[in-house]
Amino acid sequence: MQSLTFDNRFIASLPGDPATAPGVREVRAAAWSAVDPTPVAAPTLLACSQETAALLDLDEADPASPEFAQVFGGNALLVGMQPFAANYGGHQFGHWAGQLGDGRAISLGEAINRSGQRWELQLKGAGPTPYSRSADGRAVLRSSIREFLCSEAMHHLGVPTTRALSLVGTGESVVRDMFYDGRAKPEPGAIVCRVAPSFLRFGTYELPASRGELGLLQQLVDFTIARDFPWLEGAGEALYAAWFAQVCERTAVMVAHWMRVGFVHGVMNTDNMSILGLTIDYGPYGWIDDYNPDWTPNTTDAQGRRYRFGWQPQIAYWNLTRLAGALSSLFAVPAPLEDGLLRYRDTYAACHRDNVARKLGLAVCSDEDLLLMEDLQELMQAGEVDMTLLFRGLAEVDPAKPDLAALDDAFYLAGKRALIEPALLAWLQRHGQRVLSEAVEPSSRTARMQLANPRFVLRNYLAQQVIDRAGQGETAGIAELLEVMRRPYDEQPGRESFARRRPDWARDRAGCSMLSCSS
Ligand code: AMP
Ligand code: MG
Repeated sequence: MQSLTFDNRFIASLPGDPATAPGVREVRAAAWSAVDPTPVAAPTLLACSQETAALLDLDEADPASPEFAQVFGGNALLVGMQPFAANYGGHQFGHWAGQLGDGRAISLGEAINRSGQRWELQLKGAGPTPYSRSADGRAVLRSSIREFLCSEAMHHLGVPTTRALSLVGTGESVVRDMFYDGRAKPEPGAIVCRVAPSFLRFGTYELPASRGELGLLQQLVDFTIARDFPWLEGAGEALYAAWFAQVCERTAVMVAHWMRVGFVHGVMNTDNMSILGLTIDYGPYGWIDDYNPDWTPNTTDAQGRRYRFGWQPQIAYWNLTRLAGALSSLFAVPAPLEDGLLRYRDTYAACHRDNVARKLGLAVCSDEDLLLMEDLQELMQAGEVDMTLLFRGLAEVDPAKPDLAALDDAFYLAGKRALIEPALLAWLQRHGQRVLSEAVEPSSRTARMQLANPRFVLRNYLAQQVIDRAGQGETAGIAELLEVMRRPYDEQPGRESFARRRPDWARDRAGCSMLSCSS
């Protein structure tokens, strides 16, 4: 790990919390607090991502070294590391929540790799910080496995995301009340090292704005543009406008990817929205099995289902309106912020069209094709059809003579299948005609479809099986599943079982269809 060099620009450039003693507090007029990870009893490396290690120029032998588990379990610091927790606020479930901050994430520093790229390293679950409020600063193994696997799976799917370097077991237990039903119990603890160019969130700017700390707000914005958006040109309001438009554009691109692959974030609070448009904070997220735009895996959100799959595009927009509100003091008139929000709508609409074209195997997506997709989605919902298997199978259907053979595996219930079968066949005819109207070479059409429609996604039950095995001390399943998720668009002969639809036992099981925020 000699190769890691640090340039800790965030803490060097922005005001920090003058207090350094332990303890939860309100931190005003400061962007961060210095805090060391709390050492753990027996740090053990459970999994490592070779791609993320390569981003950091780590040697292949590094992860196996005892020092690696010590550093990424929070027991030792490398030269140049200066740990801190970031201060931010957020709107949670539509309501302003005030100061939140990194309650269990501790950034170790900003590593610069040999190509000059900046990668901030952050331990999640490394112990209490001034922002821990009433919680313990720790994370349980089950949620850490989920974050580790999903952030890497998303990357391999081509979805903008924070990355995961390592998963370290702490050798300590953490007490959690998984269903908030008074039955708290000890669970194994773990720490994920997350990696991203920046972990700044919408809530980073909302907090100083809410407190009238306009100088700090402007410093934060200037810093973000200089460090994370250095290619933007101009000055003053024009520069701020260009930056906000970029944030809007990136957020649209990210959410369009979520909709393409069937990912439900689960907690799209503004403190969980990255300023770089990265998927961040993997908590009670889930993957669509049978297509249902109203589904959310998050039991904490079961009532209003604010963060349901189908609402994600409009929730992201609402979150951007909160960010725009926080930035309003930087602008004389609201027009540039409104232009940014328009950029979100335009970018999302364009990405959505692109998704429809690629998922349906069309060269271009007309207005009528948008309806073709909507009609398919209605059928999928009515017939409880598996989203991933249907789209993947669609590439195998002969457009000249469509039948359901290639889609056989996508149905969960024979009764529901029977209900939609005639309409689905009619839809396939319509789709087939549309495909043939374009005269695209069939093999190139299939290849294009396969790159938009993954064969393998991190189905909720797959992650849960790995978690169950890990609970029995068998952690090899984590690396096995990661290996499959490294090539989600390839067929991977011999690994068909990882592409199967959700088995019946997982239909209503905790961890597979329902998750709480307790993690
Ligand atoms: P989340 O819903 O996971 O984004 O968390 C919202 C806020 O609660 C953030 O400020 C987190 O840092 C904090 N938080 C969540 N879990 C814990 C924990 N176990 N210990 C301390 N803070 C936590
Ligand atoms: Mg969060």
